Amino acid sequence: HFKRVTIEDVHLEDSKTLTKNINSENIKEYLRTFTKDPHIAGTDANKKVAYAIANAWSNAGLEDVHTIPYEVLLSYPDFENPNSVVIRSRDGREVFKSKGVSPVILPDEQSGKHAGHQWLAYAGNGSVSSDVVYVNRGTETDFKNLKLMGVDINGKIALMRYGHGFRGDKIHKAQLHGAVGAILFSDPSDVAQDGEKQANVYPKTVWMPNEAVQRGSLMHGDGDPLSPYYPAKKELYKSRTIDEAKEDRVLPKIPVLPISYTTAYQILKRMNGRPVPSDWQGLVGGNLTYKLGPGFVNNDRLTINVHSELQTKRIRNVIGYIHGAEEPDKYIMLGNHFDAWVYGSIDPNSGTAVLAEVARAMMQTINETSWRPARTIVFNAWDAEEFGLIGSTEFVEEYVDILQKRAVVYINMDTIQGNASLNVETVPSIEYMVIEASKQVESPSKREKARGRNTLYDTWMKVFPDKKTGKPKIRVPGGGTDHAPFLNFAGVPVINFNFKNYSTFDTYPLYHTMYETPFTNIHLMDTDNLAVHRAIGQYWAELARTFADEVILPMNVTNLAQIMMSSYLPQLQAQLGGLNISRTDAEAIRNQFVNLKKTTTDLFHMSKKFEETIHFTRHSFSQNPYDPKHINGVNDRLMSIEKCFINPRGVSKHNPSARHVLFSVSDSDSYSNSLMAGIGNAINDYNESPTNKLLREIINQISIVQYSVLCVVNTLRDVI
Ligand code: GLU
Ligand code: ZN
Ligand code: ZN
Repeated sequence: HFKRVTIEDVHLEDSKTLTKNINSENIKEYLRTFTKDPHIAGTDANKKVAYAIANAWSNAGLEDVHTIPYEVLLSYPDFENPNSVVIRSRDGREVFKSKGVSPVILPDEQSGKHAGHQWLAYAGNGSVSSDVVYVNRGTETDFKNLKLMGVDINGKIALMRYGHGFRGDKIHKAQLHGAVGAILFSDPSDVAQDGEKQANVYPKTVWMPNEAVQRGSLMHGDGDPLSPYYPAKKELYKSRTIDEAKEDRVLPKIPVLPISYTTAYQILKRMNGRPVPSDWQGLVGGNLTYKLGPGFVNNDRLTINVHSELQTKRIRNVIGYIHGAEEPDKYIMLGNHFDAWVYGSIDPNSGTAVLAEVARAMMQTINETSWRPARTIVFNAWDAEEFGLIGSTEFVEEYVDILQKRAVVYINMDTIQGNASLNVETVPSIEYMVIEASKQVESPSKREKARGRNTLYDTWMKVFPDKKTGKPKIRVPGGGTDHAPFLNFAGVPVINFNFKNYSTFDTYPLYHTMYETPFTNIHLMDTDNLAVHRAIGQYWAELARTFADEVILPMNVTNLAQIMMSSYLPQLQAQLGGLNISRTDAEAIRNQFVNLKKTTTDLFHMSKKFEETIHFTRHSFSQNPYDPKHINGVNDRLMSIEKCFINPRGVSKHNPSARHVLFSVSDSDSYSNSLMAGIGNAINDYNESPTNKLLREIINQISIVQYSVLCVVNTLRDVI
């Protein structure tokens, strides 16, 4: 008697009930509960949110709900004394001063204490007066071009616009190049449809209004700055001092503040120097020509006043369980952070509200049907993500060994950024599964359905297609939110997903502003009774249920081998071909590359063979399909794959938590991913000072990737 148990037929009816049970009204109520007050990590207001989440989960019936505390270094402004930009004429007269506080636009939702303060976490404390220089986005290329244009940033205040990378990396670079202060602004060309005309901005639309600012963290690196590698538990020693964190450039030394595009106009319209290159020009002031600086016409003088204080605070992650009926020690982990810069109704509490509803709907389904997940589903609400993924990083550092044994996958959904399409990042072995799951969820858009696009998948293919593969575009996860420590430090496979609009900008216009309140979710972004929020919950539940119930874990090693062969290795080959080296040295590198390629081909053949083992296992159980005697052989191997890529020595000397040799967060932009970072870093080091030792290090790093691939081959082999 053969029984087939796959995505299509495991508990299909229960899955439909689960989908149906996810309810928009509940999401709305959770959203209001979690976003009543501004709730920055480390404050009493955020502690209240932690307990509100724990309560919601307990009331829904989750098991073993509790909080896990850490003591970590956070940063706050002086709420009595707002940050400001001041412009003085040569005779010392004040000609402009920014308020440093954004105005309340909807009093019902935005009258909380200190909601409007404009600040950036971990900014240096103090005032600086100097000439201002415009550096576009503050990327490495921008700083290089600035130099080529003959403008020196040393000793100056860097004015940079948001976008094209993590703000902390912009400030890190500005400081490295000698800036003594920095200002970040949101350019209307990115965030406001009509720019200064303002006809079409919030609260009419989701475009950014003229006095809004994007807050955020400036930490360079992840986790508590004072306890690298180890959890920031009260009873454990912290190996780094604040001064060392600044010397190591984990924390900036220079004062930095965020300004609105209206304030940016006051600066840009006074600037001296040559007009900027055309791709540096934005839309502040409509047709105002941006200048490079340095300084102002008329010898006006710029001062920035930044009040910033470091404080050690207690943070708390919230955790809760639905224990699995068959394999309780296998964890399917779902998570999202709950701390916010202000009200956080989009980032992160659109996710928090949906996750609470997923928990509730799962428990309702358990009570109404015969369903209980076969594996354990773990719910996680992370604290202090905004300061630098602190809650999740400390958790992964504390439980890394347990997670490597028990965690099948970590599925993150931080923020619903828009309403156009599903957007998913994951590792190659899970691509197939995230695509299949997207076909199971109905489109939240009546317009899309009227055009025959009935599922999340249909619209995803339309909005974000990958022309090369004929599949939706799926990137490898970078950093920027809580999945990063799971993948990069622990080697747990991750999915990070959300909804977003088609846009070239990194984020959405109201990102990290005080205008992320429920009005925005309900009346501007997801106007059909939170249909998108609901679909996000249905997709999250579908992913979780599939991982929890599918007898054979839905992971595909062949896809990893194929992507390595068709994409990663050709990219590496091109990178290596660009090295300026002698023929013998090129030969030595080539030999190692050829070896890597051979091992990858071995992986492909081995995984093809392993597919037969999977096929046989899937079709050969009788009584209990989850009988460990049947499935452990296959599933234990599938769970080991990603861990083969963890190099305990790390892949970047700048970032101790980057240990994944294929996928690691980029050193120059922690939002994005850097493929085979160890090799890339070795190439950069060699290019800076070409020595034989550094050349050998490039070969060594290629060999380390090969060693990891070999580990996968050996894992799939029946005997060693
Ligand atoms: N998600 C937060 C931000 O974008 C933190 C990112 C990080 O520190 O890596 O500001
Ligand atoms: Zn977030
Ligand atoms: Zn955020």
